Formats: sequence, structure tokens, C-alpha cells
Amino acid sequence: MAINTVYVIGHKSPDTDTVCSAIAYAEYLKKKQKIGAVAAVCGDLNPETKFVLDYFKIKKPTKLNSAAGKTLVLVDHNERSQMPDGADSAKIIEVVDHHKTCFEYPEPIIFRAEPLGATATLAAKTMIAGKFKIAKPMAGILLAAILSDTVVFRSPTCTAEDIKIAKLLAKTAGVKDIKKFGVEIKKQKASLKKMTAGQIINSDYKTFEAQGKKFGVGQIEVVDLSEARARRNEIKSEMENIRAKEGLEFVVLMATDIINCGSEIFVAGDSSYIQKAFGKIPANGNLYAKGMMSRKKDLLPPLLKTLEK
Ligand code: MN
Ligand code: MN
Repeated sequence: MAINTVYVIGHKSPDTDTVCSAIAYAEYLKKKQKIGAVAAVCGDLNPETKFVLDYFKIKKPTKLNSAAGKTLVLVDHNERSQMPDGADSAKIIEVVDHHKTCFEYPEPIIFRAEPLGATATLAAKTMIAGKFKIAKPMAGILLAAILSDTVVFRSPTCTAEDIKIAKLLAKTAGVKDIKKFGVEIKKQKASLKKMTAGQIINSDYKTFEAQGKKFGVGQIEVVDLSEARARRNEIKSEMENIRAKEGLEFVVLMATDIINCGSEIFVAGDSSYIQKAFGKIPANGNLYAKGMMSRKKDLLPPLLKTLEK
């Protein structure tokens, strides 16, 4: 491998947007910008992402166990706690993201961030603006990433631009029925039956820090909340283990019903911030938040506000 290998890499607990954006953006940097870019991941692929890569016959990205000393382009995240291990001593040259920004770096870098439904939309937009011809399988995985992150255009994070770019990509990828394809993608992750409580919490788990308080938020998408509700005790005790191990104030799990649009909120540790933001948690259950779909848009902003007080 060339000395100047640039690893294009997404966040820990990789999801479809993180993985597919990394693959497609690495291809763009390599072919258009002539940069020695390699797509990488810092965790195991979830069943949904595996399905998408198999579907478009794309090989898995390189697994990067430590980013120490490497040169990185970060996609789909900019928070320190979500970066690959070793990122503290890595050189970061670019960020492509759609999350709230809390990025500090001692050197000027390219920082692309837009409030879109998926990093894949921003990646595709950048490629289109750069007059880069997106190949069929790349268009396919970028489309899949948009459908995944926007929950088939249902999430409040979804914008008109996401839909517009998704339609363009679908044409290139030869996907006729976008919504049907989206539901097929989402279904890959939607059953909890074969998952341990740890896998449920970690399938899409992120840690945050605000006002000196550290907390974790996991999200799992389901087509039926009863499976998660029935396993409440098991899930909560595993959440408590994670909380204690990582020294967090609290851990939240959003089980999001993608059919009926709402989330069941589980909390371990100090639940006062969640209760202040979203209402009282029933003694023998969890808090159900109707309409809550997005961690980024529905959960974090009200929660961060209560942490300020
Ligand atoms: Mn992501
Ligand atoms: Mn994303």
C-alpha cells in the first residue's frame, strides 16, 4: 500500500450510511482526486449493511483496528467519542457529515457538513458537483444508505434534497421501486429474535458528552415493539452493565417502530434528564414517545437542553 494511504472511515458501531458513504467517497477520492484512498470500517458490519453490499456485489471495506498514525477522511461523524480507536494520533484531512458539529482540530481541513438525511446524500452531491460519474453499484449503495438513514424518507431528518438525490441514484442503479427496496433493506435489521440484549443496544450505539456529563444512546429499528417490551428487564440490565463499565451518567435505548412511527425509550442510570425532556417513565414500563424517529433530531436536542440546566 502506498505510504500516503488515506483511510475513509465512519463511526464506531458502523451503520449502512457510514459504511456505504466511506466506500463511495473513497472511490471518488481515488478516481477523481487521485488520492490513495481506501474505504475502512472500525467495527463489524450489521446485517442490513451486509445485505446492501451483497446486493450490489461490493466487497467489504478494510477493517482498521487502530487509526493511530494514519491519515483519515471521516464520514458520518465528527465527535471524538465516535471516532475509531487511535484517532487521537491520526491526521484528519477531511470530514463529510450530517450531524451536529463539535469538531476541533489544530489545522485547517476540508469540513463538509449539511443538515441532510444522510451523509450519502452529501457524498453524492459532492460527486455530482465535481462532475464525477457515479458507477452503478456505487449509486446503489449510496441510495441504500439514504433509504436506511431516512427510514425510507419517513424520518424528520429527511429533506427534499435527500429524495431528489435518491431518485437520481435509483435511476443510475436501476432500482425501479425505491420504497419497496427501502423496506426490504430496513427489514434486515428489524427482528430482535436472534439478537442478544448486548447486540440490540450496540447495533447503533453512540456516546456523547455535554456539560461534563457523558451518556450513551443506542437505537434499534423494529417493525413491532412487543419483542423489545417483552425483553425489558434483560435489556435494562445489559444497559446498566454498559453504563457502569463506561462510567456514564445514563444510557438510553430508543426502540423505534418504523411502521407506526414512534419510539419506546429505555433508560439505565440517572433517568431524570430523559424524564424532564420527555415525560414521566411508568413504574413498570418504558416511556413511549409517539412520533419520535430520530436520535439526532427528536431525542438529542431536547435532552441536551435539560443537561444545560
Ligand atoms: Mn451513521
Ligand atoms: Mn448518517
